[in-house]
Amino acid sequence: MGQNNFKKIILKSGKDKSLRRYHPWVFSGAIKKMDENIREGELVKVFDNKAEFLAMGHYQIGSIAIRVVSFEDREPNSEFWFEKISDLFEYRQKIGLIDSESTNVYRLVHAEGDGMPGLIADYYNGVLVLQFHSVGMYLIRDVLAEAFKKVLGDRLVAIYDKSKKTLPYKADIEPENGLIFGELNDLPVKEHNNFFNVDFEKGQKTGFFIDQRENRKLVEKYSSGKKVLNLFGYSGGFSVYALRGKASLVHTVDSSKPAIKQADENIKLNFPDSSSHEAIVADAFDYLETANNKYDLIILDPPAFAKHHNVLHQALQGYKRLNAKAIECILPGGIIFTFSCSQVVSKENFRKSVFVAAANSGRSVRILYQLTQPVDHPISIYHPEGEYLKGLVLYVE
Ligand code: SAH
Repeated sequence: MGQNNFKKIILKSGKDKSLRRYHPWVFSGAIKKMDENIREGELVKVFDNKAEFLAMGHYQIGSIAIRVVSFEDREPNSEFWFEKISDLFEYRQKIGLIDSESTNVYRLVHAEGDGMPGLIADYYNGVLVLQFHSVGMYLIRDVLAEAFKKVLGDRLVAIYDKSKKTLPYKADIEPENGLIFGELNDLPVKEHNNFFNVDFEKGQKTGFFIDQRENRKLVEKYSSGKKVLNLFGYSGGFSVYALRGKASLVHTVDSSKPAIKQADENIKLNFPDSSSHEAIVADAFDYLETANNKYDLIILDPPAFAKHHNVLHQALQGYKRLNAKAIECILPGGIIFTFSCSQVVSKENFRKSVFVAAANSGRSVRILYQLTQPVDHPISIYHPEGEYLKGLVLYVE
């Protein structure tokens, strides 16, 4: 396609400001005029009210109308994407994640945070799992796959596309999950020298919650001699680290049966002889009713309680209720690792929920750490919405 063939979208006066500050979204309300018959996922050129070029992006139906892929007036061809992905690889090389001795699982593409809105790519010891969140990125899947192959070379054994549930449901495509390159291996991944089996096909998200890597390491540091409760434990990530840190016992609780089975397997993979772990299928809220004075380290890592702004209030109530229960039942001198991964819940709002929970308990509560997402889940300074993972470590007297 030649340069001139791109369809055009013109913004209302004043609505160019956020793009000039490199924010990568255009909301539908900012559009003054657009060419006819723009299809979902189509690459478009965006201009201000005076016909000055602003950006190129993927058009989509919905409140976010355009996701910017470039602020340069240059066709994003295969060379463009190869350079882009090379940059992301190089960044991770510089921060020590590529070919690390202790860790072979990391996020290679973190959507807006890496300047590639609509795409998540997680690397699992040779297997790259792609999750497309926009039709625009999905339509160039083959170009991207070629770029990944070229950048990763023999570090890559397979590419698995897992976008069935993540693409906008209104889009006129029917994606199926499946391999697009190579063969899946069933090798465990290594994270800070701990081993995990990852179920790419049936597991949640891309298979593993890579974003908790550094926070798990911190749990290890505080686990010695502790009775640990890992709520919303999924495949046992935090539990393995707690045992590595010499916890006296660890209970992993999750409402999903397959997750609990995996947690058990992951514990055995690392500690074949351990009798200090138990995995329990239960609702976390119910389980806390039975947990009075039983634990001195509790991890709360629930799924996103709010996916949209209109349920924000309800979500904050959920965080308050969960944290209140944990603060009430933990042994004196106990430590709580509490998280929120809801993008629409701000750091301030999350902390306020925990504050109200603490105040209602009447106990003395100190904040030891304020946690966030790791370096392979970067936040673009121009896109603060990308800061989604928030955590507090509390010391409860
Ligand atoms: N801490 C995990 C990730 C947690 S993801 C890790 O480090 O890997 C959230 C988990 O909460 C999912 O595994 C989901 O099955 C579980 N979950 C959702 N609702 C739940 C509930 N009401 N009670 C217990 N677990 C729940």
